[in-house]
Amino acid sequence: MATHYICTGECGGVADKPGTCQATDCSKHGQPLQECHCEDGMHRQAKEWEGSDSAAL
Ligand SMILES: [Zn+2]
Ligand SMILES: [Zn+2]
Repeated sequence: MATHYICTGECGGVADKPGTCQATDCSKHGQPLQECHCEDGMHRQAKEWEGSDSAAL
């Protein structure tokens, strides 16, 4: 899978180019998508980054 961009909110949105979450009922609506390079479609890498950001707060 090539570089893709995911929403780390509950909508689980995935896009093939940068953007923001388009799901109005998602807690991340309007926030930038997280760049991801995973090959398995699990998006662990991007989600771990998000998690470490939260843990630091
Ligand atoms: Zn979202
Ligand atoms: Zn991914």
